[in-house]
Amino acid sequence: MALIDRPVGRSDNAGLGSSGLLRMAESSSFGFEILGRDDSSRARLGRLTTPHGVVDTPAFMPVGTAGAVKGVLPEQLREVGTQMVLANTYHLHLRPGAEVVEQLGGLGKFMGWDGPMLTDSGGYQVFSLGELVEVDDDGVSFRSHIDGARLRLDAARAVSIQQQLGADIIMVLDECTPYPCDKALVARAVRRTVRWARQSLEAHGESERQWLFGINQGGVYRDLRAACMEQIGQMDFAGFAVGGLSVGEGRGQMLEVLDGLEPLMPVERPRYLMGVGKPHDIVEAVVAGMDLFDCVMPTRNGRNAYAFTWSGPIRLRNERQRLSDQPIDGLCECMVCRRFSRGYVRHLFMAGQMLGPMLVSLHNIAYYQGLLSRARQSIAEGSLRQWRQWFFDNVPEEVNADEGV
Ligand SMILES: [Zn+2]
Repeated sequence: MALIDRPVGRSDNAGLGSSGLLRMAESSSFGFEILGRDDSSRARLGRLTTPHGVVDTPAFMPVGTAGAVKGVLPEQLREVGTQMVLANTYHLHLRPGAEVVEQLGGLGKFMGWDGPMLTDSGGYQVFSLGELVEVDDDGVSFRSHIDGARLRLDAARAVSIQQQLGADIIMVLDECTPYPCDKALVARAVRRTVRWARQSLEAHGESERQWLFGINQGGVYRDLRAACMEQIGQMDFAGFAVGGLSVGEGRGQMLEVLDGLEPLMPVERPRYLMGVGKPHDIVEAVVAGMDLFDCVMPTRNGRNAYAFTWSGPIRLRNERQRLSDQPIDGLCECMVCRRFSRGYVRHLFMAGQMLGPMLVSLHNIAYYQGLLSRARQSIAEGSLRQWRQWFFDNVPEEVNADEGV
């Protein structure tokens, strides 16, 4: 690993004007340092500093969709190594409303999490509404999935809602395209995304309370991805995200996109791969130089009795677990694996006990945090390539056939 002892902040990026330098001096509570790089890959070891604490990168953020990581208490998130939590602007905007969250002290206080937080712009959820959505060059109109009310989101509004919510890191509104998608439509989405990025920066203004990240779009088209990155890379964003991946394109295409994009991303800024994903995808994306990840998989799968382990995923409702006195994962040191057997957890699911989904969600988050911890350790030791190979050779991606369904 190449150790770098030079602290890196916003002012390090070429092209940042004198106002950027001044702003850097004023905003000592935010920062991003690259502590080292893996010589055999593009992976970086970093430290993201926010007013609510430090995040060691590469890092995984559990998703607290509506201001709660379903079934898991904040102190449990912390106990298994979580340093940063993501919440969804769309859901919180609809219910209880950003003004309620603001009046109750902001997102962190509202949900009892005192660490760093990130909110998305709400765009991804809006675009997921499908036929309820109309997009134009200035924003997106949609109907609430809760009461059918007509609503409008544009770049400035997405920023102001996130300012009310009060997370440390907020995201620009972007247009997400599905996969597959016609290239002309993806190109139009890139144009809008770049336009909205500029408008988001204007709306964010000189605010030092939050860091605003830009988002790269462009589907699986490498030239569109590059054109988008070139434009938003010139803008004064504190970090850059890659959106619109893990939407069905498969790992091969995702890695091709990252491979083409990574050299164009400002080196000294944090990089966030949105919504990815499966453990093996995250490992590959760490190798490809990404720093931040989020995904609902650990909790959504956990609620369905699907547990990630260092021997591959297992289904805890399976008959073969009925008399198992083993922990979910013999290599996991989380509270669930220390105290409960597979047989007991299976029983909880079969008997419809809410403790079942809670325990497997917590274990799965512990697994993801352990995965990222091992990745960071491997970068620090200069052995990421070997560890990645070990992981792919030894940890199955799918439930073993003899596990049954
Ligand atoms: Zn565990």
